[in-house]
Amino acid sequence: MLTIKDLKASVENKEILKGLNLDIKPGEIHAIMGPNGAGKSTLGNVLAGRDDYEVTGGSAELEGKNLLDLDPEERARLGLFLAFQYPVEIPGVSNLEFLKASVDSVRAAQGKDALDSVSFLKLARAKCKLVDLDQSFLKRGVNEGFSGGEKKRNEIMQMMLLEPKLCILDETDSGLDIDALQVVAEGVNSLRDPNRSFIIVTHYQRLLDYIVPDFVHVLANGKIVKSGGKELALELEEKGYSWLEDAAENGA
Ligand code: ADP
Ligand code: MG
Ligand code: MG
Repeated sequence: MLTIKDLKASVENKEILKGLNLDIKPGEIHAIMGPNGAGKSTLGNVLAGRDDYEVTGGSAELEGKNLLDLDPEERARLGLFLAFQYPVEIPGVSNLEFLKASVDSVRAAQGKDALDSVSFLKLARAKCKLVDLDQSFLKRGVNEGFSGGEKKRNEIMQMMLLEPKLCILDETDSGLDIDALQVVAEGVNSLRDPNRSFIIVTHYQRLLDYIVPDFVHVLANGKIVKSGGKELALELEEKGYSWLEDAAENGA
């Protein structure tokens, strides 16, 4: 699904990703943990193709297609979805319009017709129910005045509508109460599919009690310095990251 080789990227001429390797097969959930400032969000932003992030080496392929050559919209149309730690508000654009435009664009890339407004509204209402979000949120401006938990529910709903191939959730659990956390987890679990993969960036082992990953990786100093199964998350909770950072510095 996703193959990253020796990826190097800089922000404002400072190298943040320093040769990162990651291989994700269809259907797998990979958790990425690591200290603050390690480059976790940078990885998501580089994969999504955001401005400010300059790739200086290596490669990243989604289903064999070189992502790094494409603009962010093209990457989304290929099935890449990045859920942000801090979702943007777009006042004046209704949530329903926004969702429909993003779904239509992905459908068009797959050679499918746009859904008519009535069918889309029906679908969006059904998804609202699944994430326990009142239907009135479809009429409001995108994320405008939404609470942290409502933004997350909305984002998971967007993910359900888009049915991406690769979903990246960057600290999507930060600041969530236990109910919202469960909505995120249930949303991800309901989307688990042999043809869909996930990267879950999190600081908290707790989320991984609900979303059980196939692999856990530690990103420190711009590289993956350790990989393991879900038990690695428990070990990290107990021991922190410093033992791995030290090892990475000495070994690199
Ligand atoms: P993490 O998500 O692992 O906490 P980040 O990827 O957000 O780490 O940040 C890695 C480093 O890159 C930090 O030192 C951060 O300050 C820097 N950085 C990330 N994005 C930007 C940006 N847009 N402008 C300037 N510095 C950035
Ligand atoms: Mg951070
Ligand atoms: Mg981050």
